[in-house]
Amino acid sequence: MSKIIFATQNKGKLKEVRHILSDIKIELVSLLEFDDVPEIIESGTTFEGNAKIKAEIIFNAYRIPTIADDSGIEVDQLNGRPGVYSARYAGENATDKENNEKLLCELKNFPEPHTAKFVCSAVYFDGEKLLTAYGEVKGRIIKSPRGKNGFGYDPLFLPDGFSKTSGELELNEKNEISHRAKAFNELKTLIIQSVLKT
Ligand code: IMP
Repeated sequence: MSKIIFATQNKGKLKEVRHILSDIKIELVSLLEFDDVPEIIESGTTFEGNAKIKAEIIFNAYRIPTIADDSGIEVDQLNGRPGVYSARYAGENATDKENNEKLLCELKNFPEPHTAKFVCSAVYFDGEKLLTAYGEVKGRIIKSPRGKNGFGYDPLFLPDGFSKTSGELELNEKNEISHRAKAFNELKTLIIQSVLKT
């Protein structure tokens, strides 16, 4: 069985991606299983650029095929912010709660609806092949958090056509619509076509 590293230490992402890739014959390990993980500085200005940086650093460190993603939320009234800075919106090492509070504070001065989208770039790199995929989900930011599922901005995000926030959706429900699910389902197809079948 092929081993693939998912270049993340985010347990929320890991749970989602494990579920999406559970029907292909790979052994998926995350960076939580290594203790000598190199520092990854997300110096890119695009989601795809940052996802490639993560995959290349981890592949070069362990020489094991690696998948990585970079994702975030783009809010229209904030001209696309926090975007690639979503994880560190309220500062380096900010908690999800701090990021959510900062977002609500910034949006106080704008009328509703606060339209937004989650976006995700996912990549696979094995030293030779570089595969890339993208997904997004549109919705809006509500006034106060709802739900304990998911992570990050999920409790504040109401996907279009839903009455539950991403934080209220069950994992399998979120995985039917999410930006990460779309990106990783596309990446899965590419991996099957150009890696597992060759
Ligand atoms: P990354 O680890 O650099 O990709 O940071 C992504 C950040 O964007 C996370 O820390 C969250 O704040 C936010 N984010 C990305 N995807 C999601 C999601 O599915 N739900 C909620 N927040 C997300």
